[in-house]
Amino acid sequence: MTRFSILPALLGMLFTGQVAAKTCEVEITGNDALEFDKSEIVVDADCEEVTLTLKHSGAMSVEQMGHNWTLTTTDNWREVAQAGQAAGRDNNYLPPGDDRVLQHTDLVGGGESTSITFGLSQLDRDTDYTFFCAFPGHWAQMNGKFIIR
Ligand code: ZN
Repeated sequence: MTRFSILPALLGMLFTGQVAAKTCEVEITGNDALEFDKSEIVVDADCEEVTLTLKHSGAMSVEQMGHNWTLTTTDNWREVAQAGQAAGRDNNYLPPGDDRVLQHTDLVGGGESTSITFGLSQLDRDTDYTFFCAFPGHWAQMNGKFIIR
């Protein structure tokens, strides 16, 4: 009996191995209804680099319904979002040179996508991070948590 009971244990180990695979490539989609499809993005602390892809599944133009993905600490996100409203599309609606902006993508319109790759060395697990779309009027609805596990 003991011989046969080893098999489920081995299978269990294989499954655990798969679940524990590192998550370093993440994707988020915005639509024409001011929605991101995720309220949480989780990456692994030991990723050398994280690649984030932002897709826009809608049909509206970047002028009407542009989306980007901006990362700040949760302490700063509302202030940065508000400060960026007047910064204009050329600045991705982010305050130029503001070091509270930790990462951001370009703006995309319907049918477009964009990616950024960044290291985690400037970030840490113990800090609470928030991502949001910086397009004017979007941040309050289009936001979520960025978690380093
Ligand atoms: Zn947006």
